[in-house]
Amino acid sequence: MKTELIKGDITKIPADAIINAANSSLLGGGGVDGAIHRAGGKQILEECIQIRNRQGKCKTGQAVVTSAGNLPAKYVIHTVGPVWNGEEDKSSKLLEDCYKNSLQLAESLGIKTIAFPDISTGIYKFPKELAGKIAVETVQNFQSDSIEKVIFVCFDDDNEKIYKKLLD
Ligand code: ADP
Repeated sequence: MKTELIKGDITKIPADAIINAANSSLLGGGGVDGAIHRAGGKQILEECIQIRNRQGKCKTGQAVVTSAGNLPAKYVIHTVGPVWNGEEDKSSKLLEDCYKNSLQLAESLGIKTIAFPDISTGIYKFPKELAGKIAVETVQNFQSDSIEKVIFVCFDDDNEKIYKKLLD
């Protein structure tokens, strides 16, 4: 499994799946979540509502999948990152779950390329260095038959610097 770093907007990435840092309502929000729903159109929200009607809210650390509407990707995997509250062990485990469960879902769909944003490092205030370390380690430790490439999409300069160092 190769890893790559891209600085930019995840809604523009033509990967098989892009990951959304969603909130538990699955009904959209700010940050990358808002950008994905805006660029992807109402198809994604409609599928999110269907999932909610079936299973209720999405718990922190869990992941669900929809199609990608008007985006160049094929699927959007929505995962709910932890809100940072200073409980490092608990939050780290939940962030690791986000990456693991998203990868597992991608694997079950036979996906080859997947793009992650820096989950929880925006509105949810997870410390960026720690979040980057968890993201890279979890991806690098994941054993996969189908996934060939994981792209880390950094939107801000801090994360770009952090990921550059981690991936070198
Ligand atoms: P969270 O609530 O999980 O913190 P945010 O969307 O606020 O989610 O932030 C997560 C990360 O996504 C942040 O590092 C933010 O800079 C980044 N981000 C915001 N918009 C985009 C985008 N269009 N593409 C990729 N990353 C984005």
